[in-house]
Amino acid sequence: MPSGAMPACVHCGKPAVVALDYANIDLCGLCFTCLFERRVWKANREFKLFKRGDRVVVGVSGGKDSSAMLFVLSKMAGQIGFEILPVLVDEGIEGYRDKTLEKAREFAKKNRNVSVFGKKNSGKGSAVKIGLEKAKGTIIIVQDADLEYDPDDYASVIAPILDGTTEAVIGVRSTDRHSDWFIYYFGLLGNGAITLLTNVLYGNNAGEYEGCYKAFSTRLVRTIEVKTDDFDFDNELVCKLLKRGVRIVDVPIRYYPRNYAEGKKITWRHGFLILWTVLKYRFID
Ligand SMILES: [Zn+2]
Repeated sequence: MPSGAMPACVHCGKPAVVALDYANIDLCGLCFTCLFERRVWKANREFKLFKRGDRVVVGVSGGKDSSAMLFVLSKMAGQIGFEILPVLVDEGIEGYRDKTLEKAREFAKKNRNVSVFGKKNSGKGSAVKIGLEKAKGTIIIVQDADLEYDPDDYASVIAPILDGTTEAVIGVRSTDRHSDWFIYYFGLLGNGAITLLTNVLYGNNAGEYEGCYKAFSTRLVRTIEVKTDDFDFDNELVCKLLKRGVRIVDVPIRYYPRNYAEGKKITWRHGFLILWTVLKYRFID
């Protein structure tokens, strides 16, 4: 191809808008959307994720990950007959979410089977709490709608609960990508410090605590009162479970890191708040 020419979609020949590096192909917007949705349907068939009458809680901020998730799930919900409960997540950062939250609300209004919960200045914790309250199933998966993770890992995250080994599972990102995410995530010190402090203070030996797939039995989680409405929700919950002597199993999960420029919102401030949360619940409450 002459330099500067627009690559063509391998399926239909129209100008391509995405390059899938892992498959070494270029796709136009429509063909990419089709491929993406086919993969979601395939994951659903394979792992029997959603069935008629289910209730699925989706935290939405109007950003691209959660919007894509809500869009695809809404289509599936209509066809399969499950219910979607989007919960607005607004971290309360001045001027950051105003437009995207408005978009999320508009989307909900246009879709009859979608109603919206959530309040101003509410973070991840607040959304997860609404989810826990509304949940109907026996197992809860808490996760970010983050394209860095792989829904194929649902099965391994809930397996130890299904076979009765435990009631709490945390996903630990596979170590073959260690050098990548270690640098980008909380930075070298951040994630390591959280893991070390939690393991030492609570007598545990998990590989990490910041992986974004975690599963719990609904029964167990409903017995814990989590105070935070923010992104340290998982940490407070896990600390309280460990303090109570609950055995938490960790399982490896896949992770495809992106860098700060591609939309990471976690900073060193998050790291410090989490460290404080871990410390606080060991000695008080
Ligand atoms: Zn195409």
